Amino acid sequence: MDELLGLKESFRAEVASVQNLADLQNLKNRYSGKKGLLTLQLKSLSSVPPDQRPQYGKTLNEIREDIEGRIRDLELSFKEAEKERRLLAEKIDISLPGRPSHFGTAHPLTQVLAEIKAIFVSMGFSIEEGPEVELDHYNFEALNIPKDHPARDMQDTFYVSDDVVLRTHTSPVQVRVMEKQKPPLRIIVPGKVYRCDSDVTHTPMFHQVEGLMVDTDVSFSDLKGLLELFIHNLFGKGTPVRFRPSYFPFTEPSAEVDIGCIFCAGKGCRICKTTGWLEILGSGMVNPRVFEMAGYDPEAYSGFAFGMGVERITMLKYGIDDLRLFFENDLRFLRQF
Ligand SMILES: [Zn+2]
Repeated sequence: MDELLGLKESFRAEVASVQNLADLQNLKNRYSGKKGLLTLQLKSLSSVPPDQRPQYGKTLNEIREDIEGRIRDLELSFKEAEKERRLLAEKIDISLPGRPSHFGTAHPLTQVLAEIKAIFVSMGFSIEEGPEVELDHYNFEALNIPKDHPARDMQDTFYVSDDVVLRTHTSPVQVRVMEKQKPPLRIIVPGKVYRCDSDVTHTPMFHQVEGLMVDTDVSFSDLKGLLELFIHNLFGKGTPVRFRPSYFPFTEPSAEVDIGCIFCAGKGCRICKTTGWLEILGSGMVNPRVFEMAGYDPEAYSGFAFGMGVERITMLKYGIDDLRLFFENDLRFLRQF
C-alpha cells in the first residue's frame, strides 16, 4: 500500500513538469505502458495476501483512474492549444489590398510591324517569309547584282561562306516566291536582315518589309497610289509624300520615297537635316532582268517592288532618336508604348 501511495505522489510531481504532448506521451508510457508502473502493480496483485487484496485492488483502481484521467485531460488541452496556434498562424487577412498585376505590351517594333502588315493585308497582299541565312544567288545574283557589282560592299555583308550570306535585305524572298508562284502576285515580306554596321542609326540586325506586286498591267502610277495610301494610313491623311529618282539594281526606274518631316512640319530641323523631308522607303518597277532570272516573261508581266526599314519607320512615328533603344530592353523605355 505504501508503494501504491508513493506512485500517486511521484505522478503528481512528474505531471507538474509536463510542458507539451511529447512530455505527456513519455509520462503516459512510464505509468500505463506495457511495462508501466501501474501495469506492473496490477500484475503483482496475485502476490498480495488474499485478505488485503480487495482493499489493495480498490486503491490501485482509484489511483489508476486518477492518473489516466489526468493524462486524458492534459492530452485534450494540449491538442486544443496546438489547434488554436495553427489557426492563428494560418489566418488570412482578407482586408489587405491585392497585389497589382503588371501587363506586358508588344515591343514597339512588333506593334509597328503589325500595323504595316494590317494595312497591306487590307489591300489584298499576302504575307511571305524566307530564310535569314541565304544563298548568294538569291541575295545578289538573281536581283541583278552580279559578283563584280559595286553594290556589293564587302563591308556590309556577313558572309557565312563564298556562296552563303546572312541576307542583307528581304528582297531575295521576292525571287523565291516568283520561282514557285505564277502572277498575279501581291506579297509583303517582313523579316530580319543583317549588315556589318553598328552606330546610333545602324544595328547589325534590323527589320525590313519588302513588297512585290506583279500582274499583266502594273504601272508606276499604281506604285505611287499604293504607297501614298499606305503612308497616309500609317502617318496620317495629310502627310506630304514625294518620290525622288534613285537607283537600285533590281528596279528600273527606281524611286526613293520621302514624307514631309513630322517633327518640324516641313520647316526644316536637325532630324530632317533642314530639308523638311524624311526618307522612308525605296521602290521601283521590277527590272526585267529580275523577271527573267525568276522565270517570268518580262514582255507579258510588269510589277513593282518596295522596301522599308521597320526601325526607321518606328523611330519617325514615335520621335525616337537612338536606334539602340529598341534592343536594350529597358522597361522604362518599353513601358511607354
Ligand atoms: Zn524636320
